[in-house]
Amino acid sequence: GEKMILVSSCLAGLEVRYNGTHRLNHVIRKLMEENKAVTACPELLGGFSTPRDPAEIIGGDGEDVLAGRAKVVDKAGRDVTEEYIKGACATLEMANEVKATAVVLKENSPSCGSSMIYNGDFTGEKIPGNGVTSALLKKHGYTVISEDELANYFPELFPSDE
Ligand code: SF4
Repeated sequence: GEKMILVSSCLAGLEVRYNGTHRLNHVIRKLMEENKAVTACPELLGGFSTPRDPAEIIGGDGEDVLAGRAKVVDKAGRDVTEEYIKGACATLEMANEVKATAVVLKENSPSCGSSMIYNGDFTGEKIPGNGVTSALLKKHGYTVISEDELANYFPELFPSDE
């Protein structure tokens, strides 16, 4: 069948981020227009609404959360680990349903980050690691990339001047 890519909803222009904004990426928009991508927001799938308190992983990254060694806590101090795991599982189910050939998730998010996440201090400092959803999808064999890596994976979408 048709190759389907699962993408973060906020990269497709949906205003689902904690503060009600989106992070539209024009390559993702093109993929959406060509019916090559479907959207998921792990945090909404986990039961959150927009706006919501921002959250960060404390004590590790998404892999550590899945292993029970770290937790996700929002800025008000509430433990939201369960919601993050629920959202990751729902996103994995979606990826399975559409037989996603690739997954493009927004970098730095405690759900969607695939190379970098915030360090848990709510200071804007980042550390290498996966968000909870990226960790679960990678564990199940999916290729997860961020919006920063699109040119490497979809060179046909980046017309060259040469
Ligand atoms: Fe975007 Fe992922 Fe955050 Fe949803 S959970 S707003 S898709 S970065």
